[in-house]
Amino acid sequence: MAWNVVILGGGFGGLTAARRLERKLPHQSATVTLVSDTNFMLYTPLLPGAAAGTLEPRHVVVPLREQLKRTVLHPGEVLGADPDGKVVRVRSLGGRETVLPYDQLLVALGSTSRTLPIPGLAEHAVGFKTLPEAIALRNRLLQSMEQAEIEEDEATQRELLTFVFVGAGYAGLEGLAELQDFYADVVDGYPRCKIAGSRFVLVEARDRVMPEIQPKLAAFASAELRRRGIDILTETTVERITATATTLSTGEVVPTRTVVWTAGVKPHPVIAKLGLPLDGGGRIAADRFCAVQDRPGVWAIGDAAAVPDPAAKGKPSPPTAQHVVRQAKVAGDNIAHALAGEPDRARPFRYRTLGVFVDMGRHEAVASTLGIRWRGFPAWFLARTYHLALMPGWGRRARLVTDWTVGLLFGRDSAELGRLGHPAELERKLSEPELAPEPTSNPAG
Ligand SMILES: Cc1cc2nc3c(=O)[nH]c(=O)nc-3n(C[C@H](O)[C@H](O)[C@H](O)COP(=O)(O)OP(=O)(O)OC[C@H]3O[C@@H](n4cnc5c(N)ncnc54)[C@H](O)[C@@H]3O)c2cc1C
Repeated sequence: MAWNVVILGGGFGGLTAARRLERKLPHQSATVTLVSDTNFMLYTPLLPGAAAGTLEPRHVVVPLREQLKRTVLHPGEVLGADPDGKVVRVRSLGGRETVLPYDQLLVALGSTSRTLPIPGLAEHAVGFKTLPEAIALRNRLLQSMEQAEIEEDEATQRELLTFVFVGAGYAGLEGLAELQDFYADVVDGYPRCKIAGSRFVLVEARDRVMPEIQPKLAAFASAELRRRGIDILTETTVERITATATTLSTGEVVPTRTVVWTAGVKPHPVIAKLGLPLDGGGRIAADRFCAVQDRPGVWAIGDAAAVPDPAAKGKPSPPTAQHVVRQAKVAGDNIAHALAGEPDRARPFRYRTLGVFVDMGRHEAVASTLGIRWRGFPAWFLARTYHLALMPGWGRRARLVTDWTVGLLFGRDSAELGRLGHPAELERKLSEPELAPEPTSNPAG
């Protein structure tokens, strides 16, 4: 009988592992099932481009069915697991609860935004981790500009045209830079906004931006953003958020209606329901082979797992796509060895970061590759080439190149399509007086 391999999560880790297993496992030897709550993988490094309108939202995702040849895609939400009974519970698309048995289980469920108990945060801030959040942010920016354009009250106009990002990691810095670039690109169409002026603020609790990259590169990124007029407030935290203002630890009250929360990630809440050992940060405790401690046949990778970082003794790997993709290949190989009855052939995760890219829009970026530091246009070009190479499939790559070229030649689109996919109810439309049919004379009468 064929083995059952179940992969939870169809992001960077899950998709890469599934493709690896398709290559490594002999045909008919195993059924590989991938459970995911979306039928695509989100290519997160390109999310700021989608928010800023340089890229079509559909072009920053990879449809899973397009990439998977032999893997069975099971659309649904993972609810929990019983490692003793070797089963996973899933609410399948449509609402039915399904129990999936496994011989080998790989958990790659990623992470969610890490929030703090700040008054007003949950009610008024938006995240920047998913495609709906990125598109909502773009629409929010455009709606704010539209409203500010016809607003008579100066104070309200200031609230509408001030944008605050909290957290200066990848997501915060790139997101803010791209969004400000977008604003600058479309503001000519909003003469009153242009006169009123805008304010973009980046708030960071630590003493510098981008702790993930070398201090010199981070300093260059800060200088570039400051040159564009972005306020970077380090060693500052957010104390309180209301619908119209954000209070900072410095005492400053920033009038704003848009606060974007990009201050770190935490494992998905479902991770705690899988019956697996967790580390202090709530990530699954995995060893350097990506195997979960004391749970034979269970593996964990990516943002959801604390796989030891070979570059930093005693620390878990950072939550980056670069790490998870390598871990997925290791886990895929080790699962194949386990099923072949060759557990001694398992190999450890040995990756060291080869390079980092921080795309800041306007043809500017900072990068470090194999010890060489890049800035400005060459870094930007390198970053785009790198993402192009990593995007799976020629069709996907062609879409990216087309979007970038069209944006370069013709600028960006300022249409606000917030209602896309949410049509008004048919019933309501018909009952509207202006849509009701005109009374006609009865030809028979
Ligand atoms: C804006 C942004 C920019 C980034 N830029 C970079 C970058 O430039 N370089 C870099 O290396 N890293 C970057 N990262 C980090 C990178 O995206 C993550 O480290 C990576 O996605 C983690 O991979 P993963 O497979 O663990 O999780 P994910 O890729 O998040 O995949 C998890 C999958 O599981 C699914 N899922 C979650 N819960 C359930 C459930 N209960 N049931 C079913 N499915 C579920 C999710 O929908 C998702 O498809 C960035 C992140 C963000 C947010």
